[in-house]
Amino acid sequence: MNPNNQPLLKQLPGVDRILAHGTAEYQFDTIPRSILVPLIRQEIDDLRNRILTSADPLPETFFSPDAIATAVKQRAEQKMRPQLRRVINATGVVVHTNLGRSLLSPAALAPLTTISACYSNLEFDLQQGRRGSRYTVVEGILQELSGAEAAMVVNNNAAAVLLCLDTLAKGREVIVSRGELVEIGGSFRIPDVMEKTGAILKEVGTTNRTHPRDYERAITQDTALLLKVHQSNYHIMGFTASVTLAELVKMGRHYHLPVMEDLGSGTLVDFSRYGLVKEPTIQDSIAAGADLVTFSGDKLLGGPQAGIILGKKEQVEKIRTNPLTRALRIDKMTLAALEATLRLYRDEATAIQKIPTLQMLTLSLPTIQSRAAALKSSLESIGNHALTVALLDLTSKAGGGALPLLALPTRCLGVTVSGISANALEEWLRGYDPPIIGRIENNQFLMDPRTLQEDEPEIIVRAFSALTAQMDSGKLVKRR
Ligand SMILES: *Cc1c(COP(=O)(O)O)cnc(C)c1O
Repeated sequence: MNPNNQPLLKQLPGVDRILAHGTAEYQFDTIPRSILVPLIRQEIDDLRNRILTSADPLPETFFSPDAIATAVKQRAEQKMRPQLRRVINATGVVVHTNLGRSLLSPAALAPLTTISACYSNLEFDLQQGRRGSRYTVVEGILQELSGAEAAMVVNNNAAAVLLCLDTLAKGREVIVSRGELVEIGGSFRIPDVMEKTGAILKEVGTTNRTHPRDYERAITQDTALLLKVHQSNYHIMGFTASVTLAELVKMGRHYHLPVMEDLGSGTLVDFSRYGLVKEPTIQDSIAAGADLVTFSGDKLLGGPQAGIILGKKEQVEKIRTNPLTRALRIDKMTLAALEATLRLYRDEATAIQKIPTLQMLTLSLPTIQSRAAALKSSLESIGNHALTVALLDLTSKAGGGALPLLALPTRCLGVTVSGISANALEEWLRGYDPPIIGRIENNQFLMDPRTLQEDEPEIIVRAFSALTAQMDSGKLVKRR
């Protein structure tokens, strides 16, 4: 400790003093005491440690009740802010798993509110006047849209796969191609899920080539299921061969084995009609005769988090009565949002227009270019010379482990602010309220207009105005 600091220890105010001062000057009465008192204590403790450890003399003003109350107020505000918050996705990755995947259409929000705030017929058959099943809520519309005999929904697609394997293949063998043993986002690996259900993985073929005869040779008395898994987040090129779902179905019929396909993302829209790469549709898989098809509600479908299981009545019925179903069941808010999202698919043009995921994926390049130009000129009209904005022709991604080869042409803004590094800029914007998430390339902060929502360019301009004003006044302090 610097000996000059010794007297400061005595001058450190107590909790009560800060409480009184903060209540008079900083509206501490609006902060719950359970939050306030520990924060004051912590702030005083931190200061005591600084006095004890600092080699330099410290100014007395550092420890004024004003300075302490201000710091406590800031900490309290941070603590009271909701943990789950809106962020601005300027990454251009449409189905961004870290940023909440799909945005719900306004049409899906209204029923979500009503069903959450009011009682509903969630498990009540209004016609018969007796207990009903929550699974019937979306079964009809899923049958209608996909052509499947039966449908049910659970918490997410990982749960759907788990449930299907547990129901059909527990303790028995499931045949999968080596080229389809995928890992999705670290925590979901097909072989691991299989192990959890007690199903025995029988890998066939090689990484790049699997033939019908590979499956046929592996079929034994213990075989329970032929499984096809969408490769989702990767693609093999070159000398490749795989067995189509239709071929597997034919084989399954011959050997009296059910065939399941985990589509991963799953789409009801044929994206090749919109100039994007062809992704097999849910309808294709049902038409090919799969006994079970599973996919996510919040990837390319653009709905809430859910796992959808479609297929033959016999198999779906077995799944419904599996006790595990109860543990993985979908909640009413999700069901409300899912039903409303699915209803939009009755007219494809409406779906493309109203479901944010589809709308962003099919956004035309000229539209993006004009949004990029507009944002550039708004940023330039802040009139700060430190700010440089370039327009760059790059690509956006679908994300969500879907369409890995898709590189959607886009026009990004590349921003530099002289005086701070791209990393510091990224960090500052991430600390803004709402946080602005972009990426860094060639020492520029990149923003892709594709994933920006209507009111967000305005917020971005406000953020850059605040940043440059802070820099001009010399107040830009590095955040923790
Ligand atoms: C994404 C994905 C899953 C997991 O789906 P969630 O809805 O995230 O649980 C499972 N299988 C495949 C092939 C996937 O792409």
